[in-house]
Amino acid sequence: MGEVDFHLECIDCGAEYQADQVIYSCRRCGGLLSVEYDLSRVEANLDESWRGRALSVWRYRELLPIREDEKIVSLGEGGTSLNRCLRLSEDLGLKDLYVKNEGENPTGSFKDRGMTVGVTKALELEMGRVACASTGNTSASLAAYAARAGLECIVLVPSGKVAYGKLTQAMIHGAKVIQIRGNFDDALGIITKICSSHPIYLLNSLNPFRLEGQKTVALEIRDQLGGGVPDKIVVPVGNAGNISAIWKAFRELRELGLIEDTPQMIGVQAEGAAPIADSLRRGLSKVEFVEEPETIATAIRIGSPVNWKKAVRAVRESGGLVEKVSDEEILKAQELIARLEGIFIEPASAASIAGLKKLVQRRLIDRDELVVCILTGHGLKDPGVVLERFPKPVEVEATEEDVVRAIMPTEREAMKITAS
Ligand SMILES: *Cc1c(COP(=O)(O)O)cnc(C)c1O
Ligand SMILES: [Zn+2]
Repeated sequence: MGEVDFHLECIDCGAEYQADQVIYSCRRCGGLLSVEYDLSRVEANLDESWRGRALSVWRYRELLPIREDEKIVSLGEGGTSLNRCLRLSEDLGLKDLYVKNEGENPTGSFKDRGMTVGVTKALELEMGRVACASTGNTSASLAAYAARAGLECIVLVPSGKVAYGKLTQAMIHGAKVIQIRGNFDDALGIITKICSSHPIYLLNSLNPFRLEGQKTVALEIRDQLGGGVPDKIVVPVGNAGNISAIWKAFRELRELGLIEDTPQMIGVQAEGAAPIADSLRRGLSKVEFVEEPETIATAIRIGSPVNWKKAVRAVRESGGLVEKVSDEEILKAQELIARLEGIFIEPASAASIAGLKKLVQRRLIDRDELVVCILTGHGLKDPGVVLERFPKPVEVEATEEDVVRAIMPTEREAMKITAS
């Protein structure tokens, strides 16, 4: 298979570590770790190898940090559609808008791309238990992949702040679910400490192997665009792992000579949980954390994004930016794409559409640019937010006349129809 050699590297001091050890941060300086490949030694014609395989995470096997193919734990993740959105483009005032519908993944979010690699790594490292802190989707995904691999799974979630669909998923897959009286940031702090002193494998986005799986969304986008690269990629940002992973893929593609230009990375946060957007706007060199993050988009309700440094680099190196949007803008965007394109996404995903709308209005995104929005999770994860906002459907007697009366336009509506 022409496997590429890889190791772990500290993004701050450059210290290198062998990849077959359980380590989540640099032993020398505490910095974030990244998986680095010896790309100069790739001999194979990657595009040729990839072309013969189905669109999926494992199509990009050569750029994934796994040594034993027979251990791969897969549920058929990746290979999600890239939809061109003509009606939404027109509404927003754009020419060429595509959305990558990550809700099509096995558990309904992009987290599956990371977990297929992360849980396979847990098997390679011979860890019997896996764990994560989660706003919901990470736990749903980890629980499923752990079940598939026969591993014990522990998840910590903020009490009362996880969408029902996600909690249900973690439970049915047999994870040990623990609700803590605190927020996601508290949960992550606790589980990181526990995993550092117990033989439990941590699968939050601090884990660099997980991010390698997530980078494949970028590789798929290039293939789906016929080798082209968008001008802008718009991604909702919580713990900031995904935006970092996507940027890493484009950097590697460029280094491999498979693309010339790279897209600008646009992150979108929710107003009540926007530490990166706010800190960049104030020109700070460090991200100042938000103590009590709050937003309806629970998947990005995060005040202390662990991957902030990687994300800030992604944004700076790519010439991008981080925007923030209100909950109201998020909910409107969720409805807009559902009505215009038939795609139902959860509120966190809608942040990318809301951010896009704002940036087009401010002319920070040009009408002619090729834009790809990452729709991170499926709308059915969190039906509660929708049901709360809509009136109950009308109820009538079970007769033809009553139904006809109910579906006929009212007089006012009829006048509008004639007028137009
Ligand atoms: C996890 C998640 C995010 C945030 O991704 P990060 O890598 O934490 O920035 C956004 N949307 C959804 C639906 C998610 O599940
Ligand atoms: Zn270091």
